[in-house]
Amino acid sequence: MRIERQANHVKNYDIIVVGGGVAGVAAAVSAKRMGKSVLLIEKTIGLGGLATAGLINLFVPLCNGRGIQIIKGMAEELLKLAVKYGYDTIPEQWKNGEPGNGEKNRYITRFSAPIFTLALTEFVTNAGVELLFDTVVTEPVMENHICQGLVVENKTGCEYYGAKMVVDASGDADVLFRAGVPTVDGKNYHTYLTMGADLDSCYAAYESKDISKLYGYKYKGGCAALNGANQPEGKPTRVGATVKDITEYVIENHLECLNHIKEQDRMTRTIVTLPTMPQFREIRHIDGDYTLKTEDAYKHFDDSVAAICDFERRDYLYEVPYRTMVKTGFPNLITAGRTAAADGYAWDVLRVIPPAILTGQAAGVACAMAIDAQSDICKINVTKLQQILEVQKVMIHFDDKLVPQREQEDTDAHVEGHF
Ligand SMILES: Cc1cc2nc3c(=O)[nH]c(=O)nc-3n(C[C@H](O)[C@H](O)[C@H](O)COP(=O)(O)OP(=O)(O)OC[C@H]3O[C@@H](n4cnc5c(N)ncnc54)[C@H](O)[C@@H]3O)c2cc1C
Repeated sequence: MRIERQANHVKNYDIIVVGGGVAGVAAAVSAKRMGKSVLLIEKTIGLGGLATAGLINLFVPLCNGRGIQIIKGMAEELLKLAVKYGYDTIPEQWKNGEPGNGEKNRYITRFSAPIFTLALTEFVTNAGVELLFDTVVTEPVMENHICQGLVVENKTGCEYYGAKMVVDASGDADVLFRAGVPTVDGKNYHTYLTMGADLDSCYAAYESKDISKLYGYKYKGGCAALNGANQPEGKPTRVGATVKDITEYVIENHLECLNHIKEQDRMTRTIVTLPTMPQFREIRHIDGDYTLKTEDAYKHFDDSVAAICDFERRDYLYEVPYRTMVKTGFPNLITAGRTAAADGYAWDVLRVIPPAILTGQAAGVACAMAIDAQSDICKINVTKLQQILEVQKVMIHFDDKLVPQREQEDTDAHVEGHF
Protein backbone atom coordinates (compact mmCIF):
# COMPACT_ATOMS: atom_id res chain seq x y z
CA MET A 1 0.00 0.00 0.00
CA ARG A 2 1.35 3.45 -0.88
CA ILE A 3 0.26 6.48 1.17
CA GLU A 4 1.13 9.91 -0.23
CA ARG A 5 1.60 12.73 2.33
CA GLN A 6 1.84 16.41 1.58
CA ALA A 7 4.64 18.04 3.59
CA ASN A 8 4.56 21.77 4.29
CA HIS A 9 7.95 23.29 3.34
CA VAL A 10 8.66 25.43 6.41
CA LYS A 11 12.21 26.76 6.15
CA ASN A 12 15.79 26.11 4.97
CA TYR A 13 18.89 25.93 7.20
CA ASP A 14 22.60 25.63 6.60
CA ILE A 15 22.77 22.63 8.90
CA ILE A 16 20.15 20.36 10.43
CA VAL A 17 21.13 18.10 13.29
CA VAL A 18 18.86 15.13 13.91
CA GLY A 19 18.73 14.06 17.55
CA GLY A 20 19.38 16.10 20.67
CA GLY A 21 21.49 13.60 22.59
CA VAL A 22 24.89 14.78 23.80
CA ALA A 23 26.40 14.30 20.33
CA GLY A 24 23.62 16.24 18.61
CA VAL A 25 23.78 19.08 21.12
CA ALA A 26 27.54 19.31 20.60
CA ALA A 27 27.18 19.23 16.80
CA ALA A 28 24.47 21.90 16.78
CA VAL A 29 26.26 24.31 19.13
CA SER A 30 29.58 23.72 17.41
CA ALA A 31 28.07 24.49 13.98
CA LYS A 32 26.32 27.56 15.37
CA ARG A 33 29.59 28.83 16.84
CA MET A 34 30.97 28.63 13.29
CA GLY A 35 28.33 31.18 12.28
CA LYS A 36 25.83 28.91 10.53
CA SER A 37 22.05 28.69 10.78
CA VAL A 38 21.28 25.50 12.65
CA LEU A 39 18.12 23.53 13.41
CA LEU A 40 18.23 20.78 16.04
CA ILE A 41 15.35 18.30 15.85
CA GLU A 42 14.55 16.10 18.83
CA LYS A 43 11.76 13.54 19.02
CA THR A 44 11.28 13.76 22.79
CA ILE A 45 10.73 16.92 24.84
CA GLY A 46 14.19 17.09 26.43
CA LEU A 47 17.83 17.15 25.38
CA GLY A 48 20.54 14.68 26.43
CA GLY A 49 19.27 11.41 24.92
CA LEU A 50 20.58 8.34 26.72
CA ALA A 51 22.56 10.51 29.14
CA THR A 52 19.33 12.03 30.50
CA ALA A 53 16.15 10.34 29.21
CA GLY A 54 18.02 7.01 29.27
CA LEU A 55 19.18 7.66 32.89
CA ILE A 56 22.85 7.08 32.01
CA ASN A 57 24.04 9.79 34.38
CA LEU A 58 27.75 8.99 34.47
CA PHE A 59 30.34 11.01 32.56
CA VAL A 60 33.05 8.37 32.18
CA PRO A 61 36.66 9.50 32.70
CA LEU A 62 38.24 12.32 30.73
CA CYS A 63 41.72 11.20 31.88
CA ASN A 64 44.14 8.33 31.38
CA GLY A 65 44.03 7.04 34.97
CA ARG A 66 47.43 8.58 35.75
CA GLY A 67 46.38 12.15 36.41
CA ILE A 68 46.61 13.34 32.79
CA GLN A 69 43.54 14.74 31.05
CA ILE A 70 43.01 13.44 27.52
CA ILE A 71 39.46 14.47 26.69
CA LYS A 72 38.86 18.22 26.70
CA GLY A 73 37.00 20.59 24.37
CA MET A 74 33.23 20.51 24.42
CA ALA A 75 33.23 17.22 26.38
CA GLU A 76 34.71 18.99 29.38
CA GLU A 77 32.45 22.00 28.77
CA LEU A 78 29.40 19.71 28.94
CA LEU A 79 30.73 17.82 31.97
CA LYS A 80 30.94 21.15 33.79
CA LEU A 81 27.47 22.06 32.56
CA ALA A 82 26.08 18.70 33.77
CA VAL A 83 27.03 19.59 37.36
CA LYS A 84 26.68 23.39 37.21
CA TYR A 85 23.19 23.47 38.77
CA GLY A 86 23.16 20.01 40.38
CA TYR A 87 25.35 17.69 42.42
CA ASP A 88 28.66 16.27 41.26
CA THR A 89 30.85 13.37 42.31
CA ILE A 90 34.10 14.69 40.79
CA PRO A 91 37.00 13.38 42.91
CA GLU A 92 38.66 16.06 45.06
CA GLN A 93 41.94 15.44 43.22
CA TRP A 94 40.39 16.79 40.02
CA LYS A 95 38.51 19.76 41.44
CA ASN A 96 41.36 22.19 40.72
CA GLY A 97 42.51 20.92 37.35
CA GLU A 98 44.86 18.18 36.20
CA PRO A 99 46.66 16.63 39.19
CA GLY A 100 49.35 14.71 37.25
CA ASN A 101 51.72 12.71 39.48
CA GLY A 102 50.24 9.36 38.47
CA GLU A 103 46.94 10.16 40.22
CA LYS A 104 44.81 7.04 39.96
CA ASN A 105 41.43 8.59 40.79
CA ARG A 106 39.80 9.42 37.52
CA TYR A 107 38.18 12.60 36.23
CA ILE A 108 34.60 11.39 36.24
CA THR A 109 31.22 12.47 37.61
CA ARG A 110 27.65 11.46 38.16
CA PHE A 111 25.05 14.17 37.60
CA SER A 112 21.35 14.83 38.00
CA ALA A 113 19.85 13.78 34.65
CA PRO A 114 16.77 16.06 34.87
CA ILE A 115 18.85 19.09 35.87
CA PHE A 116 21.28 18.39 33.01
CA THR A 117 18.27 18.30 30.65
CA LEU A 118 17.25 21.79 31.79
CA ALA A 119 20.81 23.08 31.54
CA LEU A 120 21.12 21.71 27.98
CA THR A 121 18.03 23.67 26.91
CA GLU A 122 19.66 26.82 28.25
CA PHE A 123 22.99 25.93 26.57
CA VAL A 124 21.47 25.31 23.16
CA THR A 125 19.07 28.28 23.15
CA ASN A 126 21.76 30.68 24.46
CA ALA A 127 23.96 29.54 21.56
CA GLY A 128 21.25 30.58 19.10
CA VAL A 129 20.43 27.11 17.81
CA GLU A 130 16.80 26.74 16.71
CA LEU A 131 15.05 23.79 18.30
CA LEU A 132 12.11 21.58 17.41
CA PHE A 133 10.92 19.31 20.20
CA ASP A 134 8.41 16.52 19.90
CA THR A 135 9.33 16.17 16.25
CA VAL A 136 10.39 12.95 14.56
CA VAL A 137 12.49 13.02 11.43
CA THR A 138 10.85 10.46 9.22
CA GLU A 139 12.51 10.76 5.81
CA PRO A 140 15.58 12.29 4.23
CA VAL A 141 14.74 13.57 0.74
CA MET A 142 17.57 12.35 -1.47
CA GLU A 143 18.57 13.38 -4.99
CA ASN A 144 21.63 11.66 -6.46
CA HIS A 145 22.89 10.77 -2.95
CA ILE A 146 22.57 14.40 -1.84
CA CYS A 147 20.19 15.07 1.02
CA GLN A 148 17.97 18.05 0.10
CA GLY A 149 16.19 18.16 3.44
CA LEU A 150 14.15 16.23 5.94
CA VAL A 151 10.51 15.31 6.27
CA VAL A 152 9.33 15.43 9.87
CA GLU A 153 6.15 14.59 11.72
CA ASN A 154 4.93 16.60 14.69
CA LYS A 155 1.79 18.10 16.26
CA THR A 156 1.57 20.63 13.43
CA GLY A 157 1.51 17.85 10.88
CA CYS A 158 3.89 16.70 8.18
CA GLU A 159 6.62 19.29 7.54
CA TYR A 160 9.72 19.65 5.38
CA TYR A 161 12.96 21.48 6.28
CA GLY A 162 15.67 22.05 3.69
CA ALA A 163 19.38 21.80 4.58
CA LYS A 164 22.80 22.14 3.00
CA MET A 165 24.33 19.65 5.46
CA VAL A 166 22.72 17.06 7.73
CA VAL A 167 24.20 15.52 10.87
CA ASP A 168 22.66 12.20 11.89
CA ALA A 169 23.00 12.20 15.69
CA SER A 170 19.92 10.03 16.17
CA GLY A 171 21.96 7.42 18.03
CA ASP A 172 20.43 4.82 15.73
CA ALA A 173 21.66 6.05 12.30
CA ASP A 174 18.00 6.25 11.26
CA VAL A 175 18.58 9.07 8.78
CA LEU A 176 21.65 7.46 7.21
CA PHE A 177 19.86 4.13 6.91
CA ARG A 178 16.86 5.68 5.20
CA ALA A 179 19.15 7.72 2.94
CA GLY A 180 20.76 4.51 1.69
CA VAL A 181 24.09 4.95 3.50
CA PRO A 182 25.50 1.51 4.40
CA THR A 183 25.10 0.78 8.11
CA VAL A 184 25.99 -2.06 10.46
CA ASP A 185 23.46 -3.54 12.91
CA GLY A 186 24.20 -3.61 16.63
CA LYS A 187 23.57 -6.21 19.31
CA ASN A 188 21.89 -5.44 22.62
CA TYR A 189 21.73 -7.39 25.83
CA HIS A 190 18.81 -7.30 28.25
CA THR A 191 19.38 -4.10 30.27
CA TYR A 192 16.81 -1.90 32.00
CA LEU A 193 17.87 0.38 34.82
CA THR A 194 15.57 2.71 36.74
CA MET A 195 16.38 5.30 39.39
CA GLY A 196 14.96 4.39 42.77
CA ALA A 197 15.07 5.63 46.35
CA ASP A 198 14.23 4.02 49.69
CA LEU A 199 14.17 5.19 53.30
CA ASP A 200 17.77 4.07 53.82
CA SER A 201 19.00 6.13 50.87
CA CYS A 202 16.94 9.12 52.08
CA TYR A 203 18.58 8.79 55.47
CA ALA A 204 22.05 8.44 53.95
CA ALA A 205 21.49 11.59 51.89
CA TYR A 206 20.20 13.47 54.94
CA GLU A 207 23.02 12.31 57.22
CA SER A 208 25.75 13.15 54.72
CA LYS A 209 24.05 16.33 53.43
CA ASP A 210 24.69 14.89 49.96
CA ILE A 211 21.64 14.65 47.72
CA SER A 212 23.47 12.41 45.22
CA LYS A 213 22.98 9.57 47.71
CA LEU A 214 19.20 9.91 47.52
CA TYR A 215 18.69 7.57 44.58
CA GLY A 216 20.53 5.15 42.34
CA TYR A 217 19.99 2.15 40.08
CA LYS A 218 17.88 0.25 42.60
CA TYR A 219 14.95 -1.35 40.82
CA LYS A 220 15.79 -3.08 37.60
CA GLY A 221 14.38 -5.12 34.77
CA GLY A 222 17.16 -6.75 32.76
CA CYS A 223 20.55 -6.50 34.45
CA ALA A 224 22.87 -7.58 31.63
CA ALA A 225 26.25 -5.83 31.56
CA LEU A 226 28.04 -4.37 28.60
CA ASN A 227 29.83 -7.65 27.82
CA GLY A 228 26.67 -9.76 28.16
CA ALA A 229 27.31 -10.92 31.73
CA ASN A 230 23.94 -11.54 33.49
CA GLN A 231 22.14 -11.98 30.16
CA PRO A 232 19.34 -14.49 30.98
CA GLU A 233 20.16 -17.92 29.61
CA GLY A 234 18.63 -18.57 26.21
CA LYS A 235 17.53 -14.98 25.74
CA PRO A 236 18.57 -13.72 22.29
CA THR A 237 20.19 -10.31 21.90
CA ARG A 238 18.21 -7.60 20.12
CA VAL A 239 19.16 -5.19 17.33
CA GLY A 240 16.49 -2.72 18.44
CA ALA A 241 15.81 -1.46 14.91
CA THR A 242 12.16 -2.54 14.71
CA VAL A 243 9.12 -1.37 16.64
CA LYS A 244 8.48 -5.02 17.58
CA ASP A 245 11.92 -5.27 19.20
CA ILE A 246 11.39 -2.07 21.15
CA THR A 247 7.84 -2.86 22.25
CA GLU A 248 8.78 -6.36 23.44
CA TYR A 249 11.82 -4.96 25.26
CA VAL A 250 9.68 -2.37 27.09
CA ILE A 251 6.88 -4.78 28.03
CA GLU A 252 9.28 -7.47 29.30
CA ASN A 253 11.30 -5.00 31.32
CA HIS A 254 8.33 -3.15 32.80
CA LEU A 255 6.93 -6.47 34.02
CA GLU A 256 10.30 -7.68 35.36
CA CYS A 257 10.82 -4.39 37.14
CA LEU A 258 7.34 -4.53 38.63
CA ASN A 259 7.95 -8.07 39.87
CA HIS A 260 11.19 -6.86 41.42
CA ILE A 261 9.54 -4.08 43.41
CA LYS A 262 6.63 -6.30 44.50
CA GLU A 263 9.17 -7.96 46.82
CA GLN A 264 9.60 -4.76 48.88
CA ASP A 265 7.43 -2.85 51.31
CA ARG A 266 5.59 -0.34 49.13
CA MET A 267 5.70 2.37 51.82
CA THR A 268 9.50 2.38 52.13
CA ARG A 269 10.67 2.69 48.55
CA THR A 270 9.80 4.26 45.24
CA ILE A 271 10.99 4.49 41.67
CA VAL A 272 12.01 8.09 41.06
CA THR A 273 12.29 7.89 37.26
CA LEU A 274 11.90 5.30 34.54
CA PRO A 275 14.01 5.55 31.39
CA THR A 276 11.99 7.17 28.64
CA MET A 277 14.10 5.77 25.83
CA PRO A 278 15.29 2.16 25.36
CA GLN A 279 18.64 1.48 26.99
CA PHE A 280 20.08 -0.08 23.85
CA ARG A 281 23.76 0.58 23.54
CA GLU A 282 24.02 0.06 19.81
CA ILE A 283 21.27 -0.14 17.22
CA ARG A 284 23.15 0.76 14.05
CA HIS A 285 26.33 2.57 13.16
CA ILE A 286 27.60 3.92 9.86
CA ASP A 287 29.73 1.61 7.75
CA GLY A 288 32.11 4.55 7.45
CA ASP A 289 35.18 5.16 5.34
CA TYR A 290 37.18 3.77 8.27
CA THR A 291 36.11 1.45 11.08
CA LEU A 292 38.03 1.94 14.32
CA LYS A 293 39.27 -1.39 15.65
CA THR A 294 40.24 -2.57 19.11
CA GLU A 295 43.82 -3.08 17.94
CA ASP A 296 43.99 0.59 16.90
CA ALA A 297 44.77 1.49 20.53
CA TYR A 298 47.86 3.71 20.67
CA LYS A 299 47.75 4.25 16.88
CA HIS A 300 48.02 7.78 15.46
CA PHE A 301 45.80 8.74 12.54
CA ASP A 302 46.56 11.62 10.18
CA ASP A 303 42.86 12.48 10.13
CA SER A 304 42.29 12.22 13.89
CA VAL A 305 39.61 14.57 15.23
CA ALA A 306 40.18 13.66 18.89
CA ALA A 307 42.31 11.60 21.23
CA ILE A 308 40.14 9.61 23.62
CA CYS A 309 40.76 7.37 26.62
CA ASP A 310 39.33 4.07 27.76
CA PHE A 311 36.76 4.18 30.59
CA GLU A 312 37.57 0.70 31.86
CA ARG A 313 41.32 0.41 31.47
CA ARG A 314 43.97 2.89 32.50
CA ASP A 315 46.41 4.11 29.88
CA TYR A 316 44.60 2.84 26.79
CA LEU A 317 44.31 5.63 24.24
CA TYR A 318 42.72 5.87 20.83
CA GLU A 319 42.49 8.50 18.15
CA VAL A 320 39.23 8.95 16.25
CA PRO A 321 39.71 9.20 12.47
CA TYR A 322 37.42 11.67 10.70
CA ARG A 323 36.61 8.84 8.27
CA THR A 324 34.61 7.03 11.02
CA MET A 325 31.91 9.69 10.61
CA VAL A 326 31.43 9.85 6.84
CA LYS A 327 30.86 7.62 3.81
CA THR A 328 32.30 8.52 0.43
CA GLY A 329 29.49 8.96 -2.10
CA PHE A 330 27.25 10.84 0.36
CA PRO A 331 28.58 14.41 0.12
CA ASN A 332 26.38 16.18 2.67
CA LEU A 333 25.72 13.56 5.34
CA ILE A 334 27.81 13.01 8.45
CA THR A 335 27.20 11.21 11.72
CA ALA A 336 28.29 11.77 15.33
CA GLY A 337 28.01 10.01 18.65
CA ARG A 338 27.33 6.32 19.09
CA THR A 339 26.75 5.88 15.36
CA ALA A 340 30.39 6.50 14.36
CA ALA A 341 32.10 3.50 12.78
CA ALA A 342 33.91 1.22 15.18
CA ASP A 343 34.09 -2.47 15.93
CA GLY A 344 34.00 -4.53 19.11
CA TYR A 345 35.56 -2.93 22.16
CA ALA A 346 36.76 0.09 20.14
CA TRP A 347 33.11 0.90 19.53
CA ASP A 348 32.44 0.68 23.27
CA VAL A 349 35.19 3.20 23.95
CA LEU A 350 34.05 5.51 21.16
CA ARG A 351 30.30 5.61 21.94
CA VAL A 352 30.35 6.70 25.59
CA ILE A 353 29.35 10.23 26.56
CA PRO A 354 32.66 12.20 26.31
CA PRO A 355 33.81 10.81 22.92
CA ALA A 356 30.24 11.12 21.58
CA ILE A 357 30.43 14.83 22.40
CA LEU A 358 33.81 15.19 20.67
CA THR A 359 32.58 13.60 17.44
CA GLY A 360 29.59 15.95 17.65
CA GLN A 361 31.89 18.93 18.04
CA ALA A 362 33.96 17.80 15.04
CA ALA A 363 30.85 17.17 12.92
CA GLY A 364 29.55 20.70 13.57
CA VAL A 365 32.83 22.30 12.48
CA ALA A 366 33.15 19.96 9.48
CA CYS A 367 29.67 20.89 8.20
CA ALA A 368 30.45 24.59 8.44
CA MET A 369 33.77 24.09 6.62
CA ALA A 370 32.12 22.06 3.86
CA ILE A 371 29.52 24.80 3.32
CA ASP A 372 32.20 27.54 3.21
CA ALA A 373 34.39 25.57 0.80
CA GLN A 374 31.35 24.31 -1.18
CA SER A 375 32.97 20.94 -0.77
CA ASP A 376 31.95 17.34 -0.33
CA ILE A 377 31.89 16.68 3.44
CA CYS A 378 34.14 13.64 2.88
CA LYS A 379 36.76 15.84 1.20
CA ILE A 380 37.13 18.78 3.56
CA ASN A 381 40.57 19.99 4.57
CA VAL A 382 41.09 17.82 7.68
CA THR A 383 44.27 19.68 8.68
CA LYS A 384 42.21 22.86 8.92
CA LEU A 385 39.50 21.00 10.86
CA GLN A 386 42.15 19.79 13.32
CA GLN A 387 43.51 23.34 13.70
CA ILE A 388 40.04 24.69 14.52
CA LEU A 389 39.38 21.88 17.01
CA GLU A 390 42.76 22.48 18.67
CA VAL A 391 41.85 26.13 19.18
CA GLN A 392 38.66 24.79 20.79
CA LYS A 393 40.91 22.84 23.21
CA VAL A 394 40.43 19.36 21.71
CA MET A 395 43.50 17.09 21.98
CA ILE A 396 43.92 15.76 18.44
CA HIS A 397 46.93 13.47 18.93
CA PHE A 398 47.98 11.90 22.23
CA ASP A 399 51.56 12.30 23.39
CA ASP A 400 53.62 9.13 22.85
CA LYS A 401 55.08 9.63 26.32
CA LEU A 402 51.68 8.49 27.63
CA VAL A 403 51.94 5.08 25.96
CA PRO A 404 53.02 2.63 28.67
CA GLN A 405 55.64 -0.03 28.31
CA ARG A 406 53.92 -3.43 28.14
CA GLU A 407 55.01 -4.39 31.66
CA GLN A 408 53.52 -1.16 33.08
CA GLU A 409 50.09 -1.66 31.57
CA ASP A 410 47.38 -1.59 34.18
CA THR A 411 44.04 -2.91 32.96
CA ASP A 412 42.11 -2.22 36.16
CA ALA A 413 38.84 -0.38 35.69
CA HIS A 414 38.84 1.58 38.95
CA VAL A 415 35.49 2.93 37.83
CA GLU A 416 32.08 1.74 39.05
CA GLY A 417 29.36 1.81 36.45
CA HIS A 418 27.12 0.02 33.98
CA PHE A 419 28.61 1.63 30.86
C1 LIG B 1 22.75 0.60 29.47
C2 LIG B 1 23.75 1.64 29.04
C3 LIG B 1 24.75 2.06 29.93
C4 LIG B 1 25.65 3.05 29.55
N1 LIG B 1 26.57 3.50 30.48
C5 LIG B 1 27.33 4.59 30.17
C6 LIG B 1 28.08 5.23 31.17
O1 LIG B 1 28.07 4.83 32.35
N2 LIG B 1 28.80 6.33 30.82
C7 LIG B 1 28.84 6.80 29.54
O2 LIG B 1 29.55 7.78 29.26
N3 LIG B 1 28.12 6.20 28.56
C8 LIG B 1 27.35 5.14 28.86
N4 LIG B 1 26.53 4.59 27.90
C9 LIG B 1 26.62 5.08 26.52
C10 LIG B 1 26.09 6.49 26.32
O3 LIG B 1 24.99 6.74 27.16
C11 LIG B 1 25.63 6.72 24.88
O4 LIG B 1 26.39 6.02 23.95
C12 LIG B 1 25.70 8.21 24.55
O5 LIG B 1 24.97 8.94 25.52
C13 LIG B 1 25.15 8.37 23.15
O6 LIG B 1 24.88 9.71 22.85
P1 LIG B 1 24.32 10.09 21.40
O7 LIG B 1 24.08 11.55 21.44
O8 LIG B 1 25.22 9.53 20.35
O9 LIG B 1 22.96 9.28 21.21
P2 LIG B 1 21.60 9.29 22.05
O10 LIG B 1 21.84 9.60 23.45
O11 LIG B 1 20.91 8.02 21.69
O12 LIG B 1 20.78 10.52 21.43
C14 LIG B 1 20.04 10.40 20.26
C15 LIG B 1 18.90 11.40 20.29
O13 LIG B 1 18.25 11.40 19.04
C16 LIG B 1 16.84 11.41 19.21
N5 LIG B 1 16.26 10.82 18.01
C17 LIG B 1 16.40 9.54 17.59
N6 LIG B 1 15.76 9.35 16.43
C18 LIG B 1 15.22 10.55 16.10
C19 LIG B 1 14.42 11.00 15.00
N7 LIG B 1 14.10 10.17 13.99
N8 LIG B 1 14.02 12.28 14.97
C20 LIG B 1 14.35 13.14 15.99
N9 LIG B 1 15.10 12.76 17.06
C21 LIG B 1 15.54 11.49 17.10
C22 LIG B 1 16.63 10.62 20.49
O14 LIG B 1 15.40 10.93 21.11
C23 LIG B 1 17.84 11.06 21.34
O15 LIG B 1 17.56 12.21 22.10
C24 LIG B 1 25.59 3.60 28.25
C25 LIG B 1 24.58 3.21 27.35
C26 LIG B 1 23.66 2.25 27.76
C27 LIG B 1 22.56 1.86 26.81
